[in-house]
Amino acid sequence: MGFLERLLPNLLVSFLRRKNQTKGTQGYTKLDGPSGLWFYVQCDRCGEKIAVRLRTTSEVQRREGPDADLGPGQHFVTKTIVGSRCYQRIEATIDLDSRYNVVGSTVQNGRLITHKEYEEKDEH
Ligand SMILES: [Zn+2]
Repeated sequence: MGFLERLLPNLLVSFLRRKNQTKGTQGYTKLDGPSGLWFYVQCDRCGEKIAVRLRTTSEVQRREGPDADLGPGQHFVTKTIVGSRCYQRIEATIDLDSRYNVVGSTVQNGRLITHKEYEEKDEH
């Protein structure tokens, strides 16, 4: 059982590192390939729906060390988004669980919408 013996310490380490597992809400993010993650916001000023693609490898940060207790998720993202219809800057802070589902979010000048809401086309 050499395989298990090698596996066991890793499992133990990841178990010990695991924070209280907060379950996120599905539908707000969409994985894209090995390191892509989409989320969607709507501008408060003009109503534009904006899709934002992140690289999980560089733009999604882990909550660990001093950041660990500052939010509910295991990962978090801070992003400034500017749409194409107006110059409103949308400031998004999004907390994500280990599967990149949204645990919580703060969006200034806009709101987080689901992929489904994004796909629903505007009436004009
Ligand atoms: Zn706008």
